[in-house]
Amino acid sequence: RTRSSEDLIRAEEPVLAHNYHPLPVVVSRAEGVWVEDVEGRRYLDLLAGYSALNFGHRHPALIAAAHEQLDRLTLTSRAFHNDRLAEFAERLAGLVGLDMVLPMNTGAEAVESGIKVARKWAYDVKGVPADRATIVVAAENFHGRTTTIVGFSTDETARAGFGPFAPGFRIVPYNDLAALEAAVDETTAAVLIEPIQGEAGVIIPDEGYLTGVRELTRRTGCLFVADEIQSGLGRTGRTLAVDHESVVPDVLLLGKALGGGIVPVSAVVANRDVLGVLGPGEHGSTFGGNPLAAAVGTAVVDLLETGEFQRRAAELGAVLRDGLTGLVGKGVVGFRSRGLWAGVDVDPALGTGREVSARLMGEGVLVKDTHGSTIRLAPPLTITEDELLNALATLERVLARS
Ligand code: PLP
Repeated sequence: RTRSSEDLIRAEEPVLAHNYHPLPVVVSRAEGVWVEDVEGRRYLDLLAGYSALNFGHRHPALIAAAHEQLDRLTLTSRAFHNDRLAEFAERLAGLVGLDMVLPMNTGAEAVESGIKVARKWAYDVKGVPADRATIVVAAENFHGRTTTIVGFSTDETARAGFGPFAPGFRIVPYNDLAALEAAVDETTAAVLIEPIQGEAGVIIPDEGYLTGVRELTRRTGCLFVADEIQSGLGRTGRTLAVDHESVVPDVLLLGKALGGGIVPVSAVVANRDVLGVLGPGEHGSTFGGNPLAAAVGTAVVDLLETGEFQRRAAELGAVLRDGLTGLVGKGVVGFRSRGLWAGVDVDPALGTGREVSARLMGEGVLVKDTHGSTIRLAPPLTITEDELLNALATLERVLARS
């Protein structure tokens, strides 16, 4: 007998670490933008795995690539070559206009790897004295959960209880070029920022900020490391969020959607003068660059090269923005959006983001709060206009009833 949602949720409590507080829905199947729970209830997925599902659940081309690879070869480790990795690296580097790829698995690993590359570059190329390299980051950042990364978080819940932390990071306000300029000095290896801060609530910097970061890092001789793990790969209506200002960072961090929602795939992408600093034995990963990941990642690049997903995100992004504009004053106090990605501030009088998310769940729409009364909308880029309009109508109804 299949177990009920209630039963499965109860069964988790004693055996799973309590580091999440999921909405009470137990998903057992999914296709495209729709997920189904164990009782057969259907929900529109407007979180899309924190943007890991940009192409929807089980996109046929990605599933086919995974199946084909599963039947042939899944893992070699990097002790040997595999016949899929060269193509993946070539195609991914080509997609973003850089030279080389360092394949990893999760987003946090790509960030850690980017930090290591930036420090090595600072010592080998820039000539920073040993162990003195600094990296400038932004307040309210989210780059992952490792001890080094949470050490430069400004979110106390993410940090408290996990020290001591790695030194060498300077935190400046986001979207503030003067503060950035003041923090950069001859020890600075890199400036590491999200071109749009996702977990902070889809915070979009002023026009010109990314251009300013590019100009400042070039002028002062440090690297611009852009964490596009959540913002990249079609979400904002362009391949990358930095594309909106035609800016090319020195180091690009990718993850989430790169694995098509099937396998964890992340990457550090940079030019040879930067990524070339790594030599054999200096960095690695048992699973990074495995043939299954490479096959799925290559199929993801295939999809992005059509431009269709970027175009959908841009066009439907306008529909999303219009819809949200219409809700301002009707339970929404403000919102920020770019492409199919929005942070929506709900009137706190109507409840927390969590409470609004729970009510939307009851109406068949899955979203996730970020902080306080902000909910994040990030549907698969395959969503239709009708589905999006329906979701907006549901949000309007839920807010009106609150
Ligand atoms: N960087 C950014 C911008 C993210 O949004 C995330 C995850 O939300 C990460 C890094 C960490 O990725 P992962 O959870 O795969 O380690």
